[in-house]
Amino acid sequence: VPENYTAAPDLLTDRTVLVTGAGDGIGRAAALAYAAHGATVILSGRTVEKLEATYDAIEAAGGAQPAIVPLDLATAGEEEAAQLAAAVGSTFERLDGLLHNAGMLGERRPLASASWKAWQDVMQVNVSSQFLLTRALLPLLEASPRASIIFTSSGVGRRGRAYWGAYAVSKFATEGLMQVLADELENTSDIRVNSLNPGATNTAMRRAAYPGEVPTDNPSPEAIMPAYLYLMGDDSAGITGTAFNAR
Ligand code: NDP
Repeated sequence: VPENYTAAPDLLTDRTVLVTGAGDGIGRAAALAYAAHGATVILSGRTVEKLEATYDAIEAAGGAQPAIVPLDLATAGEEEAAQLAAAVGSTFERLDGLLHNAGMLGERRPLASASWKAWQDVMQVNVSSQFLLTRALLPLLEASPRASIIFTSSGVGRRGRAYWGAYAVSKFATEGLMQVLADELENTSDIRVNSLNPGATNTAMRRAAYPGEVPTDNPSPEAIMPAYLYLMGDDSAGITGTAFNAR
């Protein structure tokens, strides 16, 4: 991401962007930032009240009216993914952006004592559901002349670390999903695909993972939005298959 990148106010005008995990943390900030730069945002997530709060904040800020599509990624299968795509397609003729942001931390413990159930949950929410959603939404993304897909990675998705278990493995897999998809689409499609590591950010997930930290020592979700805007808009046109850091 270019240093001191500032997005033009109309960066995402006339674009429709879907954000998963849009009810809290980084996803909420991204939904607000995309709307503030002109996008119509489709808010997906598990807790409807939180999505409604994001919806209200976008409307209060004067953004285009968002849409809400609830989806619990822990239980979503092919049918739910197809329903989501149908719901999006019934209102919008194309999708210009997809931010895969929703994620769960799971257990922080040695692999030797990690639980199978927790492993499966993390892999389902952090990886498999992204495949399902992406596959279902590809036709709508293909209908856009310049769609951008962003996968959310992590420092432990680039170098494994003790006690990060399934979460770290899920982020490595996310990088793999990004690379395979980017390579498949590079010469046949206008869709570009990249990954973004937000870095330590003051959210509920970070506070749970590092209870000993002073939360405000880390940047707020709002502070890392330049990277999220850069990768979603045309200032990163032509870039695909690349792993980014938000700062
Ligand atoms: P939060 O816990 O604040 O937000 C996570 C979001 O994901 C919430 O909106 C949550 O919904 C949603 N979510 C979780 N499980 C599901 C599910 N089963 N179905 C649908 N939605 C779900 O975390 P962050 O904002 O910090 O994390 C955002 C992304 O950034 C994640 O992918 C995370 O791994 C990544 N990341 C974060 C870092 C940080 O320091 N914060 C560092 C590196 C990576 P709900 O509110 O309803 O639970």
